[in-house]
Amino acid sequence: MNQYWNKRIRKLDPYVPGEQPRDKTYIKLNTNENPYPPAPAVLDAIQKVAGDFRLYPDPGSLYLRQALAESYGLEADQFFTGNGSDEILAFCFGAFFESDRELLFPDISYSFYPVYAGLWDLPYKTPALSDDFSIKVEDFCVPCAGVVFPNPNAPTGKALALDEVLRIAAYQEKQGSVVIVDEAYVDFGAESAISAVKSHPNLLVIHTMSKSRSLAGLRVGYAAGDKGLIEALCRIRDSFNSYTLDRAALVGAEAAVRSEAYYTDINKRIIATRERCIAALNAMHFTVIPSAANFLFVKAPGVSGLNFTKGLRDRGILVRHWNKGRIADFVRVSIGTDADMDCFLAACKELI
Ligand SMILES: *Cc1c(COP(=O)(O)O)cnc(C)c1O
Repeated sequence: MNQYWNKRIRKLDPYVPGEQPRDKTYIKLNTNENPYPPAPAVLDAIQKVAGDFRLYPDPGSLYLRQALAESYGLEADQFFTGNGSDEILAFCFGAFFESDRELLFPDISYSFYPVYAGLWDLPYKTPALSDDFSIKVEDFCVPCAGVVFPNPNAPTGKALALDEVLRIAAYQEKQGSVVIVDEAYVDFGAESAISAVKSHPNLLVIHTMSKSRSLAGLRVGYAAGDKGLIEALCRIRDSFNSYTLDRAALVGAEAAVRSEAYYTDINKRIIATRERCIAALNAMHFTVIPSAANFLFVKAPGVSGLNFTKGLRDRGILVRHWNKGRIADFVRVSIGTDADMDCFLAACKELI
């Protein structure tokens, strides 16, 4: 606390990102980064643009949005791009929800949502997931200021089927509220709702290049939705910072969109590694939530979440742990290379 802070900043309860240690080399399974490098075309494009920083970048990211439109069979004006999907989410909270009614997101979900609600002073309710960590669709088909949830959910990894997502979108469309589906992990095994934005003018689907595109350090995300929703996001961006993506990010992301085959291949490898780990953990009697993401939500038999996290850290492996409520005994483990996961599995064996 400092005497110069205004009331708004005094009340904020900011997000704490997973650590990026500088002290020594860990096996980093704590922030869901992709263990494989980006497509070669991405690095080529970024290198080429490096002589070109004198002029501002295109504030409308036209070439990137055109590449996205081609890739998904939509129009360029049905896409918005941002400095990571976190920035887009922050804009959404300011654009689509009201302070006179509660917005809804699951009790176990991306921990940035309550932070954005705090930033924009928005009331919210958090319907509880079922005992098996499934989203209860009925709980999100009620009058409210709007709905946001990750699919697959984070940190559980559990996915909701597309028809269930669309049941929520259709209900909220009738009562005039926006539904935001945060598909940060969709490429690892869930069904995307992107094609449904054509038929649901209240549905916004957000993707990131940070996980399945191996570009967490470039900071690019995008949203697909009706052009009315997209225009609202442009209004917020252009009231804040028109150049949210720099030239390197624009060309790198465009090349990533055009390198589909490369990414399908590396993400298939991650899915195969994930399934091998699930089988190995089940054989050691760990509790593993079925995952459609590039991480596992895991409970070790007879070891608290805190001790499991500490034990792994002592062995040079970082994972993510939330010491709260019914997830306190779980840890979230990103899927690394096969060699990374062999180290993780060996550490698990020692710890139980
Ligand atoms: C990682 C993540 C994001 C943020 O991704 P960036 O594009 O890197 O900002 C958003 N939502 C969920 C659920 C995530 O896990």
